[in-house]
Amino acid sequence: MATVAVEVVYRGVFQKSLAKEICRGIVFAARKEGRIGTAFGRYGDSPERNGIPAKQYAVVADGEEELEASLSQYEPAEVDVTIALDDTLCKGVESWAWYGLQPVNKLVKENGTLIVTSVQSPEDLVRSIHRNGVPYNLAILRGQPSFSGLWVYRDDHTDVRVLGALSKSCPQLFSLASVEETVKEQWRSDLKVASARRAYERLMTRLVEPGEGNPEEAYSYHLLPWQEMREGVVVPAVPKGNGFRGGDKGFEPARNPHFKKFATRSMRPVVNFDTCAKCSLCWLHCPDGCFDITPEGLYDANINACCGCGICEEVCPVKGAITMVNEALFTENGSQYELWKAQGKEGYQTWVGEKVTAQKGFGQWSHGYHHKGQYETELALASKEAQ
Ligand code: SF4
Ligand code: SF4
Repeated sequence: MATVAVEVVYRGVFQKSLAKEICRGIVFAARKEGRIGTAFGRYGDSPERNGIPAKQYAVVADGEEELEASLSQYEPAEVDVTIALDDTLCKGVESWAWYGLQPVNKLVKENGTLIVTSVQSPEDLVRSIHRNGVPYNLAILRGQPSFSGLWVYRDDHTDVRVLGALSKSCPQLFSLASVEETVKEQWRSDLKVASARRAYERLMTRLVEPGEGNPEEAYSYHLLPWQEMREGVVVPAVPKGNGFRGGDKGFEPARNPHFKKFATRSMRPVVNFDTCAKCSLCWLHCPDGCFDITPEGLYDANINACCGCGICEEVCPVKGAITMVNEALFTENGSQYELWKAQGKEGYQTWVGEKVTAQKGFGQWSHGYHHKGQYETELALASKEAQ
């Protein structure tokens, strides 16, 4: 049997421990079938940052030699399965701004599988995922993305549910029986064994043909090969921005022209310009300097620069003037201010209303905890969804 490689794409820090548990579980379950494997992080050489897409891998082979041969590469050139632990990663993955945006399915081999944790329909997800040159399977593990912190993960069974799903999508890796045995031994929970089995039984899979998906070219820029680099260590500064444009022309801060942060976020702010009190708090507090000041003194979040932290919504004193909305509900990164001007008050209010209403389908904020007991409520909801 050939080497099997699995890639886990996750939100840095928030899902690091979850990804690690999954990769560890893969290796243990493979051992039940008499195979050996190893699990490793792609960015072990750098600290992770909140929300920045990151990767871990699990590689399984029949014997040591075969495993060593496949590990001579730092990162597998292709994988049998990619697992995306947050469905907003389907829009693309940019890690460390090294190479622009990578399609989430870039490494999935022909007839391989992309497993996504999501409450979205396969059709909605396919619309976000860049086209692949080969057919592959999209498997949906129904549930909200599971976010937590660096050293912990939520015990909402996403770990074992992913393993159950994996045994169905990739039977050459291991059987459901091996997953059940592993979960019983490693997690010591019959409830988790049942969750793994249920995920196996309820996994929704759909074939995606090469012509299907987002037709856009993923964002990229020219990376200098060493021959083109200047002598010495030169780190060009961010060029001076337009800044204050004088009179009533507004203000736009300087920004790195290459590093777009859209792949970092799972939510984005929707600004209601008609209720904004022009207090400037969002502009002052945004850690990424996202807000442009418009000629009217309104604050337009530059969506290419926004990392989705949600601070602007927290500090805004006007209820509903900024609402964080799940990233899955957007297909582009254009200016909301331009939309407001183009659509007029009525049209823009309809757009804002649609986004805010649709956000309710995604449940609570995906960032941290905002009230006592939120974890228990979310856990109950998540288990209901998984049934
Ligand atoms: S969510 Fe708001 S505060 Fe955070 S980076 Fe985006 S615009 Fe700035
Ligand atoms: S914090 Fe709210 S009210 Fe104040 S400028 Fe920003 S959007 Fe307007």
